[in-house]
Amino acid sequence: MAIQTAFAQTQLFWQHAVQEKDWRKALDALIQALRDSLVFDNLAIFMIDKQGETSEIAYARAIGREKDAEADANWGEAIATEAITHDEIVLQKPTESAENKDRRKNAYLIGLPLTASGKLIGAMSLIRFGGPDYTQEHIDLAKLASDVVAYIFEKRALQETIAELEAVQRQMRLQDDFVSTISHELRTPLGFIKGYSTTLLREDTEWDKETQREFLTIIDEETDHLTELLNNVLNSARLESKTAEMNFQPVRLDIILRDVITRIHAHYKNLVINFEPKEGSYIYGDSPMLTQIFENLFSNAIKYAPDAPIDISIKKVDDQNVQVIFADHGKGIPKKHLAYIFDRFYRVPGMTKATGTGLGLYICKQIIEAHHGKMWAESEEGQGTRFSIQLPVLTLPDIKEGV
Ligand code: ATP
Ligand code: MG
Repeated sequence: MAIQTAFAQTQLFWQHAVQEKDWRKALDALIQALRDSLVFDNLAIFMIDKQGETSEIAYARAIGREKDAEADANWGEAIATEAITHDEIVLQKPTESAENKDRRKNAYLIGLPLTASGKLIGAMSLIRFGGPDYTQEHIDLAKLASDVVAYIFEKRALQETIAELEAVQRQMRLQDDFVSTISHELRTPLGFIKGYSTTLLREDTEWDKETQREFLTIIDEETDHLTELLNNVLNSARLESKTAEMNFQPVRLDIILRDVITRIHAHYKNLVINFEPKEGSYIYGDSPMLTQIFENLFSNAIKYAPDAPIDISIKKVDDQNVQVIFADHGKGIPKKHLAYIFDRFYRVPGMTKATGTGLGLYICKQIIEAHHGKMWAESEEGQGTRFSIQLPVLTLPDIKEGV
């Protein structure tokens, strides 16, 4: 190969590898560029797994005349394994006696080990049907391409590791914040309880009945708040470790919701809740856990979308699934935070002064997933937030047989 051509080829390969962020697109472009100067029909890439034991197909592409051969990427496995075992380029061509009239059976193969940072990470196989045999120049070109392929895979591994580390880092930061949040969240109700009970116990003052009642109501409410907080912390730990006990029974979603709404209305008399269920959907679920989900959603709507009505609906999506939609008309959640609100301890920074631990939505989602359902949120800034819950319904025969 003339030096200019070789230089141009190298430059083209590296350009794709370095500039393209998506590893698949980088490979597609690289292989197209390789194919422009080297004739081959199929290409397959095998990577050694993390334990270093077996190699798995990571990419396969049929380009040439025999596209249907792609369906069976096994063609490249044996030669890739050989290239990995010997850590060298392996060539294979049909023996003269075996030459076949059917050109598809005359396969010329090349297996190239893939090495990144001095470590063998996999192999790349090329197949050419019906020859001609690979020249030294072809082999050199394939070797150059295989080095770039190894680089692309190393870059992919690095990107994955960075993403994992960022997730761990985010989680650690949230966990740190959580310690200070939870101390504050525990101290506030405890402060009220201690303060009002000490006041009531003072021997130098007589409190009239009405004042006593007012103080006791505060103590009562703050105790509920503490219980709810502790339940959230315990439940989130149990759900995280998958040790939460659930008692599944046929239950009606609309009834669970009605009960929660009645309780919420007792505390928030002016809160407008629009709920006219058209379906009395039966599902197979744990009633206290499902109750907790709706309580958390109400608690959020009251904190983050105050003084605005809440719209709740239940609808069948298809024969197998029912959806509950819980929509508020508050400030909404900025797009860049929406993806994280179901993460444990996550709170949208600087949104309100409302207190919380960032456990509520995490718990909701875990409970729904334990019910084989899905939960997600959509939000429009300034318009409100819409939480959707999808759960599998119980059909009539299931109910009759008591599941
Ligand atoms: P906790 O529920 O544990 O008391 P929390 O309410 O902060 O604390 P989540 O219920 O998990 O935690 O909610 C996570 C974050 O999502 C909240 O801190 C808030 O920033 C945002 N958020 C949740 N619901 C809404 C909503 N309806 N409108 C706007 N933002 C919301
Ligand atoms: Mg909450």
